[in-house]
Amino acid sequence: GLIFMNPEAEKLLGYSFEELTRQPLHTTIHIQNLNGSRFDPDRSPLALALYEGWEYRSSDIVFTCKSGALMPVSVILRPILEDDRLNGAVLAFHDISEQKKYQESLRVVNEILEKQATTDALTGIYNRLKINTTLQSEVTRSKRYGSPLSVILFDIDKFKSINDTFGHLEGDNVLKELATLVSANIRGNDLFARWGGEEFMILAPCLEQEQALEFAEKLRELVATHAFSIRQQVTASFGVAILQHPETPDQLTSRADSALYLAKQNGRNRVEMA
Ligand code: GH3
Ligand code: MG
Ligand code: MG
Repeated sequence: GLIFMNPEAEKLLGYSFEELTRQPLHTTIHIQNLNGSRFDPDRSPLALALYEGWEYRSSDIVFTCKSGALMPVSVILRPILEDDRLNGAVLAFHDISEQKKYQESLRVVNEILEKQATTDALTGIYNRLKINTTLQSEVTRSKRYGSPLSVILFDIDKFKSINDTFGHLEGDNVLKELATLVSANIRGNDLFARWGGEEFMILAPCLEQEQALEFAEKLRELVATHAFSIRQQVTASFGVAILQHPETPDQLTSRADSALYLAKQNGRNRVEMA
């Protein structure tokens, strides 16, 4: 049983020393894991350390105060040995609620920063940084598993004249509408990003050449037949490239770019293959 508890611990836990001497600690203050799950009182990490005489340190323990409030604590449990025999233990703990709150806000902030760093501000889809890092890992994966990987690069036709006719803001709206339209028509595995200006890229893992061409053709038609708010047809030209080992991500995108160039050369609003 408990033989001593300092006043500071009484204050933190809300229990008096007398109250705690009458009941086992594992049914009062130490009854659950940080994630909320209850453990077998005899098998909690603290109980095991106590019974078996180990030194135990953790910052992932939660104590239940008398009020029912949960208090994340960092603890050190040190066995007291007498003539090599276990004769009790000293438990020191302190309240780390503030640190845990701070860690949680840090996690949220990091999540927001990560999202910001990988998102295109105008359209809300991924940006070039994100597609470049994903391209690296997908090329590596494709090399390892021999699965196909295709890149579809597309560029709005005569976008300069859309800006000139309707103004830059309407031009921005066309980019946003197109991003929304395409986002709704790709699969979960595809990564869709703004490559720059009025150019977009889709990274489609697992598509063979024929399927990638069909997919690009479907998107071309989707854009060309969509009723944009400027009430004028908007078209785009598409370049498709399938990863050919042992090329690098740069070589792959540069082939998609050449195919796109060819599509422009051959009259726009069309799909070409590298
Ligand atoms: P092509 O069919 O050969 O692609 O012709 P294009 O006019 O689309 O190509 P060009 O490269 O000559 O012009 C692209 C235009 O896209 C020029 C640039 O001002 C415009 N643009 C790039 N980024 C943005 C943007 O964020 N908003 C708007 N409104 N316009 C943009
Ligand atoms: Mg263009
Ligand atoms: Mg362009």
